[in-house]
Formats: sequence, C-alpha cells, structure tokens
Amino acid sequence: MNVIYPLAVPKGRRLCCEVCEAPAERVCAACTVTYYCGVVHQKADWDSIHEKICQLLIPLRTSIPFYNSEEERQHGLQQLQQRQKYLIELCYTVAQKYLFEGKHEDAVPAALHSLRFRVNLYGLSSVELVPAYLLLAEASLGLGRIVQAEEYLFQAQWTVLKSTDCSNATHSLLHRNLGLLYIAKKNYEEARYHLANDIYFASCAFGTEDIRTSGGYFHLANIFYDLKKLDLADTLYTKVSEIWHAYLNNHYQVLSQVHTQQMDLLGKLFENDTGLDEAQEAEAIRILTSILNIRESTSDKAPQKTIFVLKILVMLYYLMMNSSKAQEYGMRALSLAKEQQLDVREQSTIQELLSLISTEDHPIT
Ligand SMILES: [Zn+2]
Ligand SMILES: [Zn+2]
Repeated sequence: MNVIYPLAVPKGRRLCCEVCEAPAERVCAACTVTYYCGVVHQKADWDSIHEKICQLLIPLRTSIPFYNSEEERQHGLQQLQQRQKYLIELCYTVAQKYLFEGKHEDAVPAALHSLRFRVNLYGLSSVELVPAYLLLAEASLGLGRIVQAEEYLFQAQWTVLKSTDCSNATHSLLHRNLGLLYIAKKNYEEARYHLANDIYFASCAFGTEDIRTSGGYFHLANIFYDLKKLDLADTLYTKVSEIWHAYLNNHYQVLSQVHTQQMDLLGKLFENDTGLDEAQEAEAIRILTSILNIRESTSDKAPQKTIFVLKILVMLYYLMMNSSKAQEYGMRALSLAKEQQLDVREQSTIQELLSLISTEDHPIT
C-alpha cells in the first residue's frame, strides 16, 4: 500500500522521517508528502495526529504554484500562513488532550508538529515556540525521560529570557512545567517556587479565580498532599473545586434556562456547551476525578466535600452531553447524602439535578 516516490520530491530536499528525522524508507500513500523511517513511526504518527492533518499537509508541502500577479501571490502566501496557524493550534490541542488523558506517547508526534509549524512560521527564536517546547517537556516527563524534559524546558526558558514580549500566560505555563519537572525530581522546594510563580503569572493574565489559574493551585495542592501537610492541601483542593464549580455552574445555568425556553421550539438538544476546548475538558476530568479520589478517602468524616466534587462532575458531564456519566455521578452523590444522613435540602438539590438530567436522557445527534 505504501510506496516510495523519490521523484515526487523537489531536488535537494532531504527525505527524512516525520517522527525521528532518520532517513526515510516509506511515504504516506494518502498524501504522498509525508515520509517515515519505518512502519512503527508511520503508525505512531497516524494514530497521534497524521490522520487528522494528512490532507491538510498537501498544499504546504508541494511547491508553490505560479501566480499571475503580485496580489495573487500575496493572497496565496496569506492562505498558506492561515493554514499553518490552523495546524499549529490543531496539533497543540490534540497533543494537550493526550497529555491530560495520560497518553504521553501519543502526544509526542502531535507536539512535534506543532513545534515544526511554529518554526516555519515564526523562526527559531520566537516565543511562539515556547508552548510547543512545554508540551514536549510535559510528554517527556510523563514518559519518565527527565533529561529530555529538562532540555526542552531549557530551550523554553532560554527563548523566554531572550524575548521582550513574552505574555504572562506563557510565563505561567513555563513555570508550571518547571514545577512539574521539580516534582518529578522530588525537589519540592524548587517545585513550590515555580508553581507560586505560575499562579502569579496566570492570575495576572486571567485573574485569580480563573480555570486557567486553577492548574497551578492543583499541582501545589498535590505537593502538600504528598508532604502530608493535609490542611494546606485541603484548602487548595477546595479552591480548585470552587473555581471549577463557579465556571461550570455559570454555563449550566445559562444552558438550563435556554433549554426551558427553546427546547420545544427547536425540538432538539444543543451542542456540547462547556465553553471548553477538548484539552480543557480532559484537564477538568483529570483534576476533578483526582480530587474526588482524595475526597472519597475521607468521605466518612466530610461527606459534603465529596458530594461537592460529585456535583461538579455531574455538571461537567451534563454540559459535555454525556448524560449516563452525569447520572452515575449524580446517583453516587445522592446515595452518599442518604447514607450519611445529610439534611433534606442537600438531598433535594441533588434530586433536582438528577431530574433535569433525566428529562434530557435522549440526546439527538
Ligand atoms: Zn522515524
Ligand atoms: Zn498522509
């Protein structure tokens, strides 16, 4: 199925593997512009990102057509740039989603692509490269390749240092990843320093109560939890839960109002409406389920805290149009409330939540 087309490549262009840059032996038969050292890397790239971008790569990698006028040429170049920007974002989101799902191996090819398109578009010293370095660092950490992670982080740090226009958001991400690196190296002092900086820069960029700031609190909480400083960990987990609760409750209220007004009119359900991209949804699931696990270990002493997280998960899955998961978490909240004999009001709010979900149990897709 896969053949090599040596003549299809412009003279002088080196054929190298999309994943490892070793000399290529194969080509993707679908786009004929993407090369691999062997079937292993071809499959890895296909599963990670190539399936989604295969056809989009063709115009980027074939020679630029002849234009009749300068205007046409400019227009053509602009379109290519747009396409590259789109690919940068797409590859970034896909890699990020894999990371939040804990699929570090799958994240690597997508993250590498995001980096390469950035290099093409912005050059080697641009801060635009930093988010991609950070993805690669995080993936490397997840794979236990600490030295490699340090190299990517060093590149990112160096690029930020040289730049004069690095955003607070990028500073925040850099510090978050340095924090994760030092957590992996069990250097909790350094990790805390970087996570505090992450929270500072994220707060400058988005505000202290933003979901994008909550990641820093969450990792810091994990450190305190590991150090058995449970009070500090508890306070931070509560803060993270409250931030997500406020965010999702806001969307949930809007959606349930819209529903009662327009549900019959349109006769169908709305699209997924978390206001989050796929990567953020995966992050929300990861953070909230991990807090849930921690809360459940103390459910007998503080059942309200467990129920609070369960209710947030109900809203999250409800907004993600996954009503069976929403119902599952709702039932767990209800049975815990009954079991712990919480007051009737708590029980009835969960009942309300559950009845709202079950009226929309048959999503039309
Ligand atoms: Zn390879
Ligand atoms: Zn292809």
